[in-house]
Amino acid sequence: MSSKPPVPTRTRSQALQLSAERFFPGGVNSPVRAFRAVGGAPPFIQSAAGAYLTDADGNRYIDYFGSWGPMILGHALPPVVEAIQRAAANSASFGASTAAEVDLAERIVACYPAIEKMRFVSSGTEATMSAIRLARAATRRKIIIKFEGCYHGHADGLLVKAGSGLATFGIPGSAGVPEEVAGLTHALPYNDIAAIEAAFDAHPDVIAAVIIEPIVGNAGCIPPAPGYLAALRALTRREGALLIVDEVMTGFRVALGGACQLYEIDPDLITLGKIVGGGLPVGVFGGKRKYMDQLAPLGPVYQAGTLSGNPLAMAAGIATISYLQAHAEEIYPQLEATSKAVFEGVAAEAVAAGVPLTTNRVGSMGTWFFTPDPVTNYEEAAKSDTAAFGRFHRAMLDQGIWLPPSQFEAAFLSTAHGKEEIAATIAAASQAFKFVQGE
Ligand SMILES: *Cc1c(COP(=O)(O)O)cnc(C)c1O
Repeated sequence: MSSKPPVPTRTRSQALQLSAERFFPGGVNSPVRAFRAVGGAPPFIQSAAGAYLTDADGNRYIDYFGSWGPMILGHALPPVVEAIQRAAANSASFGASTAAEVDLAERIVACYPAIEKMRFVSSGTEATMSAIRLARAATRRKIIIKFEGCYHGHADGLLVKAGSGLATFGIPGSAGVPEEVAGLTHALPYNDIAAIEAAFDAHPDVIAAVIIEPIVGNAGCIPPAPGYLAALRALTRREGALLIVDEVMTGFRVALGGACQLYEIDPDLITLGKIVGGGLPVGVFGGKRKYMDQLAPLGPVYQAGTLSGNPLAMAAGIATISYLQAHAEEIYPQLEATSKAVFEGVAAEAVAAGVPLTTNRVGSMGTWFFTPDPVTNYEEAAKSDTAAFGRFHRAMLDQGIWLPPSQFEAAFLSTAHGKEEIAATIAAASQAFKFVQGE
């Protein structure tokens, strides 16, 4: 048996983590960053370029989490950097409308025909919580249906069986959410159309909306079963409930038009985030005009934001989306090819090492689940051997491969990932699997 890869020096990161713990719970400003699920201290990042992150001690990593999704073009792509610099020179914020908002909106509508009108907000959380409010107002109903393992941000009503950090830390729902609020959200198993039919039968005329990650990313990557999303669309239409497709992760990721384009779904409302801001804080909720026009100042549904449509964020979004639009015909096939190579290459190393692994992937998002069985919903994802994942994660990190630090988060590739990065990743995995079986 070969010896373990040496652990790189991370003294500066360790010192920074101790300082950060004085100010931030767990030393972090978002919980999964703390690496609790995989063990070890999280490296602090100094800079990044292309597919590579550099930490505070000068160690380099190939980046497979891409800031949790936004960085589809890799880090610090010159046209994105220059767009932000140009915008910053004209002042960081006005709190009044700018041409940039119209520019980005035109691009979004071109990719998402279901979005007739929209609002910019500053995070995915804001987008989904505003979409829910609008759906409740439009239907005059209260109940929301979501799916186990789907994460839609951290608003009170959406933290029921919510995947992502909650799944990582084994928290069923958040403390501090009153049961009266949580009780208005029903969580059903994903990929199970009978379960949703039963819910509509049991609660006729009270379900305001069904919100879904069209491809789950926040329980690890779980694709929809053939026909599942179409059935959901037909059922919600029949029952007078709105279908909210949460494309915060999948939007511009799996196709220019997201999962709605891939699976030909025409939802009532769509939420976007992550890539649409090119690494700056942008969220979007939008959809059919008849619903969106119920927002203030046209209608009675209140929603607002001091920094919504911020000019720096719009500039980063326009630079990113216009680049994707101009190069879509090369970019998405390239991402498919590089992602297929790395996900299948690593899976083959697991077979060679005798490590049971199930690989799920749609385009450039995917997950290696440490379980021998298929993963089609959260319950099956939760059967993964998270301790084995933790050992794999540490062994990869020590060899300079940065995977998302949880079994229940999708890994992403960017356009900056090429043959060299893929070969290095597969070679590292071949070593890492030797330490998965026990240490
Ligand atoms: C990340 C994510 C959110 C939340 O977005 P934030 O910007 O972190 O608030 C919502 N929905 C999905 C599907 C996400 O992946």
